[in-house]
Amino acid sequence: MRINENYQKLQAGYLFPEIGRRVRAFSAENPAANLIRLGIGDVTLPLAPAIVDAIKAATDELGTDAGHRGYGPEQGYDFLVDAIREHDYKARGVDIDSDEIFVSDGSKQDSGNIQEIFSSELRIAVTDPVYPVYVDTNVMAGRTGGADDLGRYDGFIYLPATEANGFMPGPPETAADLVYLCSPNNPTGAVASRENLASWVAWAREHSAVIVFDAAYDAFIRDPVLPRSIYEIDGARECAIEMRSFSKRAGFTGVRCAYTVVPKALIGTTPSGEEIALRDLWSRRHATKFNSVPYPIQRGAEAVFSPEGKRQTSVQVDYYMANAANLRAELAAAGITVFAGEHAPYIWIRTPEGETSWDFFDRLLHEAHVVCTPGSGFGASGEGYARISAFNSRKNVDEAIQRIGRAVGG
Ligand SMILES: *Cc1c(COP(=O)(O)O)cnc(C)c1O
Repeated sequence: MRINENYQKLQAGYLFPEIGRRVRAFSAENPAANLIRLGIGDVTLPLAPAIVDAIKAATDELGTDAGHRGYGPEQGYDFLVDAIREHDYKARGVDIDSDEIFVSDGSKQDSGNIQEIFSSELRIAVTDPVYPVYVDTNVMAGRTGGADDLGRYDGFIYLPATEANGFMPGPPETAADLVYLCSPNNPTGAVASRENLASWVAWAREHSAVIVFDAAYDAFIRDPVLPRSIYEIDGARECAIEMRSFSKRAGFTGVRCAYTVVPKALIGTTPSGEEIALRDLWSRRHATKFNSVPYPIQRGAEAVFSPEGKRQTSVQVDYYMANAANLRAELAAAGITVFAGEHAPYIWIRTPEGETSWDFFDRLLHEAHVVCTPGSGFGASGEGYARISAFNSRKNVDEAIQRIGRAVGG
């Protein structure tokens, strides 16, 4: 049996397994150490009561003759699609039609699956560092060659996210067909300005390129002037696909609900020049390969938009963002160079002169008993940086700040 050899090109799922290995080795040698984990991008607060109540009530409903439901509509129930249109878009002056919204079980899946509707010969641009899903799914699909020593695949256009560009690169000089953007960004915690997104939209329209815009962290944006959706930029409906998730904004990482928007104005072409709406291709893919999100979970997602749900989830987002603000202020006061974390639950810190991302990770683990994520694990340009997550209890974050300050401040 021949396998899909593209999988052989993948870098051995290096980052998180390697972190796990080092943490286990440390814990085995230091069983009494009280580790604080600020490495993972996962929520820590319990599901908000309004959401729990909605999921329970919907589950009870399914257990009755009148309330039984089988397969749901593939694009999602109207009650959820309408709530999304109203609260995530209309409230910010953006009109999205119901049939442009596709409810799914996660933005990880959606951002990994979207490449299926495009030609195998696309030129793809990604930021560096990058959320690895965008890259690996295109490697699996055969759109690249092998990787070099720095983990860069032949065939991709890498756009370095650096201090000079505020970790939000603008469009490349060259053409590309598809670009993945994530704002607020994982891993760097940076956020795209309106000008940055406008330059991307202008570039995409000029080159007939498509932008895949991952807004999984939109709820963490504090400044109301910053765009939460790429559709707040004129012309984006003709060039952008947007993904949002309930995972980070409402604690759904273990519950699973998200959605993707594919505007009908987004047009692709066949080799003979025939124009095809990308929305129709995604609809076909979605209906063929997916049977929608469980009814009680969609009711739980709907509850995120109720007055209590909004209030309860915004208290949770505020809680994480207060952690982020403390991390920023206190680590800077300890002499550490910190970036971002103002509109995202991640702080990006520059490792001390001469120290690699992994050296820094080891020192933090051994001297502060704190787990971070080495920036180099997200791409070559992440070398010399580390990601600190604000997803933890206030007590743990405050304790971690003290320990990091003592271990590496100066
Ligand atoms: C957490 C995260 C998501 C959300 O993924 P889900 O599958 O919806 O949980 C998407 N994109 C990025 C960059 C993320 O960090």
